[in-house]
Amino acid sequence: MLHYASHLLLSPLRITARWLVNRFNAPVTVLVYHRVTRLESDPQLLSVTPENFRAQMRYLKDTFNMVRLDEEWQDINRPSVAVTFDDGYADNVNEALPILEELGVPSTFFISTGFISSDAEFWWDDLERIILNENKLPPSFTLDTGLGMREWPTKSVAERTRLYQDFHVLIKELPPEQREQQLARLRSWADVTDKGRESHRVATLDELRRLARSELVTIGGHTVTHTKLSILSQDRQYEEITASLRQLEAWCGRRISVFSYPFGSRDDYTAETVEVCRQAGLFRAVANIPGQYHSWTDPYQIPRNLVRNWELPMFRRKLAGFWIS
Ligand SMILES: [Zn+2]
Repeated sequence: MLHYASHLLLSPLRITARWLVNRFNAPVTVLVYHRVTRLESDPQLLSVTPENFRAQMRYLKDTFNMVRLDEEWQDINRPSVAVTFDDGYADNVNEALPILEELGVPSTFFISTGFISSDAEFWWDDLERIILNENKLPPSFTLDTGLGMREWPTKSVAERTRLYQDFHVLIKELPPEQREQQLARLRSWADVTDKGRESHRVATLDELRRLARSELVTIGGHTVTHTKLSILSQDRQYEEITASLRQLEAWCGRRISVFSYPFGSRDDYTAETVEVCRQAGLFRAVANIPGQYHSWTDPYQIPRNLVRNWELPMFRRKLAGFWIS
């Protein structure tokens, strides 16, 4: 999962410059998805419906050169697109993979290994389940923020939404142990168990292996605990990154050469993180900064463009914008 700064407005001069650059050096636009399924509630807008995903993939396949993230791109001579997924949701295997295979579209799946085969949800989903999906909550929640006690009323939907949004921001800044402590406190306050919902299930090991067996699929690392790397020491970052790569290699029986930074905006990783990826022998690492890849792009900070649940006309308009961003 990730957060995005909104697009800057583009000047006509910049658009012309981009057009010229693209003529001389064929770009690769890397797209990022999280989920392909139909959800009743999707506060982080992470899910694309199977219908929209199929239409998007068919359009890409019919229009562009589709490339893999783990192959050399130096001989590319026309605009190309790479499809990627972050996190490791079960629907990647059960809903996205059949569409990719039907249409012959290659894709890379970045997996947070600590959640595979777990009954628990990813922490951002768990937060939603605890705060927004429970009918009966105590009237308020109190937290020692380190800067004093803070209280959130939780009677109305608007109040709960506020708690959900504030808590999301707060726990994103915590290392995994403290984050889990805060979630456990919240679950105990709301009197809910830690068992996740089927609709938000993470892939099992069997499902991950099924995904990895597809000829069209590349598996990549996405840390163990999906923690914001920039808040961790360099040693801890190295551990998060290499442990996820080694675990995936053991599970899938192949070398893992690509990686995606959790959340992935400029604030979520550092120059040290990039150095760790280099030292770990990775071929490429991807961020979540809008833009496109050219031959001079840093292979450890490849831009990616987030796709929402857009119908085809909107998808085509957004994609046209990605080429000149
Ligand atoms: Zn993620």
